Amino acid sequence: MSKTHHITLIQGDGIGPEVTGATRKIIDATGVKINWDICEAGAAVFKKGLATGLPKETIDSIHKNKIALKGPLETPIGFGEKSANVTLRKMFETYGNIRPIRELPGVPTPFSGRNIDLVIVRENVEDLYAGIEHMQSPGVAQCLKLISRKGSEKIIRLAFEFVRSEGRKKLHCATKANIMKLTEGTMKRAFEDIAKEYPDIEAHHIIVDNCAHMMAKNPEMFDVIVTTNMNGDILSDLGSALIGGLGFAPGANIGDDVAIFEAVHGSAPKYAGKNEINPTAVLLSGVMMLRHIGEFDAARMIEQALYLTFSSGCITRDVKVPGKNPVSTTAFTDEVIKNLGKEYDHEKIRPYKPIAKVAISQDVDFVKTKKRTVVGADIFIETTKPMAAFGPEMESFGHKHHLTLKLITCRGVKVFPRDHEISPDVIDVVRCRFMAPQETELEHKTLHALLADIESHYHWMHIEKLQVFDGVIGYSKAHGED
Ligand code: NAP
Repeated sequence: MSKTHHITLIQGDGIGPEVTGATRKIIDATGVKINWDICEAGAAVFKKGLATGLPKETIDSIHKNKIALKGPLETPIGFGEKSANVTLRKMFETYGNIRPIRELPGVPTPFSGRNIDLVIVRENVEDLYAGIEHMQSPGVAQCLKLISRKGSEKIIRLAFEFVRSEGRKKLHCATKANIMKLTEGTMKRAFEDIAKEYPDIEAHHIIVDNCAHMMAKNPEMFDVIVTTNMNGDILSDLGSALIGGLGFAPGANIGDDVAIFEAVHGSAPKYAGKNEINPTAVLLSGVMMLRHIGEFDAARMIEQALYLTFSSGCITRDVKVPGKNPVSTTAFTDEVIKNLGKEYDHEKIRPYKPIAKVAISQDVDFVKTKKRTVVGADIFIETTKPMAAFGPEMESFGHKHHLTLKLITCRGVKVFPRDHEISPDVIDVVRCRFMAPQETELEHKTLHALLADIESHYHWMHIEKLQVFDGVIGYSKAHGED
């Protein structure tokens, strides 16, 4: 007797019920025993006034079952509630977002025949998606990009283990470490360190913009790409366009305890209820789910049936094959079911194995240091004064407390002291960098006294301490700073 799996099913918004419905029907037709626990999330829940978009019953169900298949959820853009998708990923710490991009037989694209078969492994919790945003002044917004060594190690180890689980050979790490040396650089350094533990895997770092360029120019060169959250979001949509569009891009959100499977695409509201959308992306997410729960034969059966369906000319609206008319979502689903059990023998089948669990230290202070020195502070201040007047005023505040005003920057560009006549555009938030005398530490009481002086004339928004950890500088220099 085969095992019954308990899986949470979130049908989703827009086209969600159609694509998850098709997937459920096909998975059930393989004979795998699944007890689907259907739960609500997204637009309907927001409308009932629940700001998270996630009712307690849904959270409890995922917590209990540990596995969910999820349709897309709508997110209000630019205002209001947070994305329920992102909340789910954070709540269950599904830190690894695995997004395969594979050319399908019978789906013609400008890249057809090049055997694109790559996977994006995207960090899924940190980065700009930490969602920490503030208005510094009425006209200046800020978003905090948080990248930890622990988060980077976890996703990189998962990526290396994923490469092994699929019998792949190569891992690229795509970052913008050339510009963001601390945040994106943390992932690059973690990648270079951990790569030494996987000598069987070819490891390369690539700058993310060049990665996007090479994905469009020479996608065959990639096997697996691990990257930060924002980079991964963009690269995976780009990747989906190489193989026929978002209708073909599946995904898995993997955590230590919970895994949530969903397509890369959203709720495509203009197609909702029209019975013409492509269910492949969610179906392939279901295939990933079946492998995750150990149902390798059913996963293979669906993949083979899907290849056979497309290559026989049965296509959905988003696929263009000269002389072939698209069929409805339901007709396509029925055709895949009809083909279950038949073999499509031109396709390479990977030696899939379960992904080995990533085990790293659970210490909250993941990176230990012996000595920490606060050598200065960046204070962000709102002002409309010309820098020629504001700069000397900040210098005199600094002198009063035996601190040096190193520079003032606006949007990262040095605006005081001026080195040349070219004037950058100035906005009403500047960063003043105060340094303690060399070999000394900036004490809290000095910082408080400096702030009290500034506060009597200006709004200050926030402070960043300039710290040195075991002799390593823990802050970036400004453009133009020596
Ligand atoms: P989208 O829903 O992914 O749709 C963008 C376009 O992609 C569609 O107009 C369609 O292109 C194509 N497409 C998407 N799914 C397809 C499918 N199954 N078959 C064929 N083509 C498909 O992106 P969006 O319009 O930017 O977002 C709509 C909503 O979804 C937003 O509220 C957004 O926040 C949400 N969203 C949710 C998730 C998630 O739940 N994980 C992910 C992304 C977006 P054509 O117009 O060319 O036919």
